[in-house]
Amino acid sequence: MLEIKQKLRDEIAARRDDLIALTQDLVRMPTLNPPGHGYLEICEYLQVRLQKSGFETELVRAHDTPGDSEKYPRWNVVGRRDGAHSGECVHFNSHTDVVEVGQGWTFDPFGAELKDGKIYGRGTCDMKGGLAASIIAVEAFIAIVPDYAGAIEISGTADEETGGFGGVAYLAEQGYFTPEKVQHVIIPEPLNKDRICLGHRGVWWAEIETKGHIAHGSMPFLGDCAVRHMGAVVHEMEESLYPTLANRTTTMPVVPEGAKQSTMNLNSFHGGLAEPEEGFTGFPAAIVPDSCRMIIDRRYLIEETPEQVAQEVVDLLEKVKSERPKFDYVLNEMWQVAPTMTEKSAPVVTSVAGAIEEVLGKKPEYVVSPGTYDQKHIDRIGRMKNCIAYGPGILDLAHQPDEYVGVEDMIESAQVMALTLFDLLVNND
Ligand SMILES: [Zn+2]
Repeated sequence: MLEIKQKLRDEIAARRDDLIALTQDLVRMPTLNPPGHGYLEICEYLQVRLQKSGFETELVRAHDTPGDSEKYPRWNVVGRRDGAHSGECVHFNSHTDVVEVGQGWTFDPFGAELKDGKIYGRGTCDMKGGLAASIIAVEAFIAIVPDYAGAIEISGTADEETGGFGGVAYLAEQGYFTPEKVQHVIIPEPLNKDRICLGHRGVWWAEIETKGHIAHGSMPFLGDCAVRHMGAVVHEMEESLYPTLANRTTTMPVVPEGAKQSTMNLNSFHGGLAEPEEGFTGFPAAIVPDSCRMIIDRRYLIEETPEQVAQEVVDLLEKVKSERPKFDYVLNEMWQVAPTMTEKSAPVVTSVAGAIEEVLGKKPEYVVSPGTYDQKHIDRIGRMKNCIAYGPGILDLAHQPDEYVGVEDMIESAQVMALTLFDLLVNND
């Protein structure tokens, strides 16, 4: 058994050039989202690649999901390869989209240049390096252990960066992720090769609107300023809500440290006159604003409920209302995602943990992500609890200029993935 494991590791190390070339091919496809560029191209590329290793593949367009259009169709690819005997299914899911390039690059963002053992470009770390590592891991595994039990699936999915509705959420709704069909899910997001990410915090977005009464700006006493009312809301948040949130602790191993508490970001604030169009050189009109809207982005812990999170904001608004004449508000809940955390004792976790110890000679670190990723859809829609994120790349580099992924990191995490497959699909009785 040790011998086969060593063979697997050697096989992956020997595929170094293939791994580099595959990563470069993927990065050179600028799958920018928004708007959702080149999804079909990358899915067709993956389809050809997977078919060479005997995968049955399917291209799935997420019709009528947010952003889907004839110009920017939301394409996904799903591949499955059944083994020699019945058994469990291990699924590797990667998103194919990347975020905008932004300023400050010294490398060509879609050049995928290899320099000093690193590949540079948008999406190298988040997460085409992880996608490439999982493909190499699976191909090496099939070459060494062709008679495995169960099945291996690989998917390349759209739109993770914008909520995953045209990607994993759609596939989950269509039945691609159910406990009957898939037993283990690994999402190779860049969490570092020695970390297992068990899940993420919850999200609650809402818009608060305060109401006023329009009047001439020279006689504000004849109107009622909605921006001042919103100012009172923000003041109350600073006085009571922010200190409360900062004191809430969690048993979730969230990284970085600052995200171990409940947090709230004031996302945007609009009141009074609309922003003038670019190039407009006139002056603003003298009005008292009759409406002010603020969007809040609240991230919550597994110890909190969404009802409690919402009630806290309602209570705060009611308090301001009781103290402030003419204060009136509307609260619109926009969307929410429940926190999720896979048990450390779940089979996919113990299996990856064992593989990390074998390959890296150390115990893994268990973490929880401050923000969400596609695990939310696999959990809620797919009802799949045995799911983690594990992959190469340094999380802090995601979405940054000069993003890169280390070749050695990809090789080692591919070795971890291959040993995990061995544990789950061969060594399972
Ligand atoms: Zn990502």
